[in-house]
Amino acid sequence: MAAAETNFKELLEAMPDPVVIVEDGQIVLANREAEKKFGYSHDALLGQPIEVLLPERFRTVHVGHRQGYERNPHTRPMGIGLELFARRRDGTEFPVEISLSPSESDGHKLVISIIRDISDRKRLEREKDELLATVTHVLDGMTEPVFVVNPQGDVTRANDAAARMIGRPREEILGRPAREVFHWEDAGGRLLDDDEYLYHETFGSVEPLSVSGRYLRRLDGERIPVVISSAPVTDPEQGIRMAVQVVRDVTREREAEELKDRIISLVSHELRTPIGHIKGFASSLLEEDVTWDAETQHDFIVEIDHEADRLATLVADLLDMSKIESGKDFLEIAHHSPLAIVESALRAAERFTREHEVKVDVDPALPDVPADASQLERVICNLVENAAKYTEPNTEIRVQARRGGDAVEFSVSDHGPGIPLEYRDRIFERFFRIKTGNGGRKPGTGLGLPICRGIVEAHGGKLWYESNGGGGSVFRFTIPL
Ligand code: ADP
Repeated sequence: MAAAETNFKELLEAMPDPVVIVEDGQIVLANREAEKKFGYSHDALLGQPIEVLLPERFRTVHVGHRQGYERNPHTRPMGIGLELFARRRDGTEFPVEISLSPSESDGHKLVISIIRDISDRKRLEREKDELLATVTHVLDGMTEPVFVVNPQGDVTRANDAAARMIGRPREEILGRPAREVFHWEDAGGRLLDDDEYLYHETFGSVEPLSVSGRYLRRLDGERIPVVISSAPVTDPEQGIRMAVQVVRDVTREREAEELKDRIISLVSHELRTPIGHIKGFASSLLEEDVTWDAETQHDFIVEIDHEADRLATLVADLLDMSKIESGKDFLEIAHHSPLAIVESALRAAERFTREHEVKVDVDPALPDVPADASQLERVICNLVENAAKYTEPNTEIRVQARRGGDAVEFSVSDHGPGIPLEYRDRIFERFFRIKTGNGGRKPGTGLGLPICRGIVEAHGGKLWYESNGGGGSVFRFTIPL
């Protein structure tokens, strides 16, 4: 059998991992690799209890385990689910994986243990965990929603911003088909079909893709304009492709664009029209070969005066708007009687309201309000001017003031067409004008209502729209006492 033993020893030496063979808890054979790994000189392990290879804290327990194994020997990995450690001669430790197999030879009951040093694997795992934690951290710190879709179309990762954008907790997103999680729509509000979801194209592409003009419909019904970029990513190990999608909420850009359009339309209309008229009348008056009678000359000059006023109003509105938006305190507060303010506002609005019936309903016993009188007059004058501008002649405009809790509540109501539901918030946006209906043809800047609201809010009050029972509008605002 000497040849067989030699063969066995050679085989042992050829093993890349440390191998020790144990009988009754004592090491009877160890390969060079084991000696090297554990820091022992040649044959120094022979005759030692196997426990010398264990950290001291595990030794007692190990004796029990070992005896259990000897009663029921079979091939198995050791300490399933536990982190195992081995001890070098100098007392240092390293993580290991051990597999045990029993072997009978000439009546000797042997246990062969193959001990694999898994320090490298552990380190890699740790590094991977750290990397993953960092990536998750970075993703969650991003303000832009990011999510990952696998080739089956399921969402495998989503950052905090993505969950916030959709309005669902992350647990409800992960592992679900992207199509159920994200409701993309086109500009017209149509839900996109499965094949329009960008990730399909992404899997077939090498370059990142990007689409705009899409909308996300949130769970709460809100529609957000977005630009989606989608990049294909290949996992070098598994070759699995995934699509990393970054969603950018472009609401602000949209608003800025809309605002720009409105300003352009304002400048092209509200600025050009009066200038054109002024130029036209002035040129006519200057024509040398025509003589205008005194009445016509007067009419022309009235028109010029009128158009110049229009321009002056526009410029004043623009300046006021920027003053209000600067957030600086522009009010000069003193105590004023509500009735006096209403009367003064109506005098200023008189030239607009000649064809209307204006009714005043102000309780003379109201306390004085702390306010900037000229600004408050401006608010009322503006609301009354609108009430006259957007309603038929000979209809009634009513200006009221009454006590409402800790405030005085003013209102201007009319019997005009009212404001359609969809515009009731938007009329308070800068430069917003309703283009449909007769009102669309009236001159205006779309700055009146935002300025009014700005002034009222600077006083600590609120201004809002209500529809007027049988038709028409009510603009109501409060000035706290
Ligand atoms: P402007 O009058 O210069 O257009 P405003 O900010 O004062 O700007 O008003 C915004 C829009 O709200 C107007 O263009 C008009 O369509 C609508 N609006 C305002 N007041 C009334 C009203 N009393 N009745 C009907 N529509 C109104």
